[in-house]
Amino acid sequence: MLPESSSQVKVPCKACGNLAPSTEFQLDYHEGKMVCLACYQKNRKTSIKPSPPPQPLPERPPGWDEEDELLEQLNKQKKKTKDSLDFKELPGTDKCIITCGQCTFTFKFNTKQFYPPACPYCRHKIPLEVFKKPF
Ligand SMILES: [Zn+2]
Ligand SMILES: [Zn+2]
Repeated sequence: MLPESSSQVKVPCKACGNLAPSTEFQLDYHEGKMVCLACYQKNRKTSIKPSPPPQPLPERPPGWDEEDELLEQLNKQKKKTKDSLDFKELPGTDKCIITCGQCTFTFKFNTKQFYPPACPYCRHKIPLEVFKKPF
């Protein structure tokens, strides 16, 4: 007859598969089940570890395209222009990029529809005659 310990019942751990005394099992929130003491302590250590703060990526609005990219760049490096009209054609489109001579705001302008007729920021009128002539 083998002497059998009735007080120490060993059961396999569901996480690591090792046999461990049932009295040592703990509910691990990480695993969502009862695990052995070794697994419990291991998971506690890993969960205590401070995770690096997530790096927020600069969010871009839906429909972001290269034109908007260009606009953003132009708005960043606002040039001090006098009351002259600064524009940059967008090849292959009816649009060009205008830098308002009044407030230096940069925006898209449709050269076919002459829209917008004024700076959307300061309402400074765009000299439309510039676009009525061939470039
Ligand atoms: Zn385990
Ligand atoms: Zn303006």
